[in-house]
Amino acid sequence: MEKQNTHTVYLGLGTNLGDKEACLKEAVEEIKKRVGEVTSLSAFYATEPWGFESEHSFLNAVCRVSTTFSPLEVLHITQEIELSLGRIKKSINRQYSDRPIDIDILLYDDLHMDSPELTIPHPLMWERDFVLVPLKEIAPEIAIPTNA
Ligand code: ADP
Ligand code: MG
Repeated sequence: MEKQNTHTVYLGLGTNLGDKEACLKEAVEEIKKRVGEVTSLSAFYATEPWGFESEHSFLNAVCRVSTTFSPLEVLHITQEIELSLGRIKKSINRQYSDRPIDIDILLYDDLHMDSPELTIPHPLMWERDFVLVPLKEIAPEIAIPTNA
């Protein structure tokens, strides 16, 4: 039976600390538990740091999720997941720089919104290969805006 008020969200995941593969997998598990059904998950892509210098390379992925939550609710849940995974990592190896996990909302249905807390589509996604390459893998039909 078709669920009412189900929305399609694309989330971008990135990590450059600790056991990166385990971290991404754990983030996906938390997303399944707390955001909604993960209907597609890209491969994990090793990428170089973007926008800052770090000796730690990144592992990135994109997933598609069916959710009944609003955009702001998804933001708050994913921020809680970031915090909980970050805290685990911090208490284990006392690393306070770089990022154990970053979860960005890339797309939410066809929604465009721009608030101080949340901008959708994610404003920088169209210029980041570490987002575009995994996104294209799971959603080749999504067109990149020509004016982005
Ligand atoms: P970034 O992901 O840009 O490297 P952060 O993860 O530290 O940086 O996010 C900073 C803030 O960006 C968040 O507190 C959130 O309120 C805001 N933000 C705006 N749009 C989005 C979005 N589409 N997805 C996730 N966070 C967003
Ligand atoms: Mg982020």
